[in-house]
Amino acid sequence: MIKKIGVIGAGQMGNGIAHVCALSGYDVQLVDINPAQLDKALTVIGKNLDRQVKKGAVDEAGKAATLARISTGTEFSFGTCDVVIEAATEDESVKKQIFAKVCPSLKPEAILCTNTSSISVTRLGASTDRPGKFMGMHFMNPVPVMQLVELIRGIATDESTFSAIRTFTETLGKQPVNAEDFPAFIVNRILLPMINEAVYTLYEGVGSVDSIDTAMRLGANHPMGPLELADFIGLDVCLAVMHVLHDGLADTKYRPCPLLVKYVEAGWLGRKTGKGFYDYSGDKPIPTR
Ligand code: NAD
Repeated sequence: MIKKIGVIGAGQMGNGIAHVCALSGYDVQLVDINPAQLDKALTVIGKNLDRQVKKGAVDEAGKAATLARISTGTEFSFGTCDVVIEAATEDESVKKQIFAKVCPSLKPEAILCTNTSSISVTRLGASTDRPGKFMGMHFMNPVPVMQLVELIRGIATDESTFSAIRTFTETLGKQPVNAEDFPAFIVNRILLPMINEAVYTLYEGVGSVDSIDTAMRLGANHPMGPLELADFIGLDVCLAVMHVLHDGLADTKYRPCPLLVKYVEAGWLGRKTGKGFYDYSGDKPIPTR
């Protein structure tokens, strides 16, 4: 019976995961090395719950009960948790150090999950004391809004672990999709090469930023053009995923576009730095090419 969830890392993803777990009635223990991140996470969760209250998805009592189910701290001790979801910085050595600290505190039957976007679930699982009870649970950003969770089976993941987490995902009101443990799983494997191709289309002068985004919005019915979406995701993140695909699958079709590399070198990372394929300094985003 899953009752209490540990969440490691209180950043963008961790606060969203804590939010949806608490809203679904689970007790949540949210841990970060940085106390300021914990305070910020509680503020963000409160604001996101307010938005849900305005939309009528939750009432004030539900909001208060959700917040009351979340405890925060900097201690890596999860002895009362049934499932622990790691959502710390995307760095293999950081994640392995976290697992080394966390595992001795876990109940023997506890399941450990990682929200990694790109690191091998099998390799991370092998560094723990419980590869059979380890798997990937890849939430999408922003977590309270996005319906999908990719469930990634490492080579050693037990069937009982996989089915328990699949059921747990459904209790969060999310739609699980099964993915095997290969670079970038399903969504990013398909989405990022499309974005990279849009940057090549720009690089080769086939179209301007505006014509590429308009073409894909109106011609393929995408809610956002690929370059607009790249700015939203962050160009550094887009480039990192292309490197993972290129290195992990050793196929030249995943070669990162030199123009994408150039933008990242310039520090033009998209919305978060105020400039990418669009300039966000004015009232309206202006295409930079
Ligand atoms: P973030 O930078 O917003 O948050 C990372 C948090 O981890 C920070 O609060 C940081 O203080 C904390 N942290 C760092 N080292 C730690 C440690 N040793 N122990 C505990 N906490 C530590 O990052 P994010 O965007 O929330 O990404 C977190 C994970 O989720 C990454 O693995 C990322 O690949 C994955 N992910 C991100 C997205 C996305 O769109 N941002 C989508 C899906 C998955």
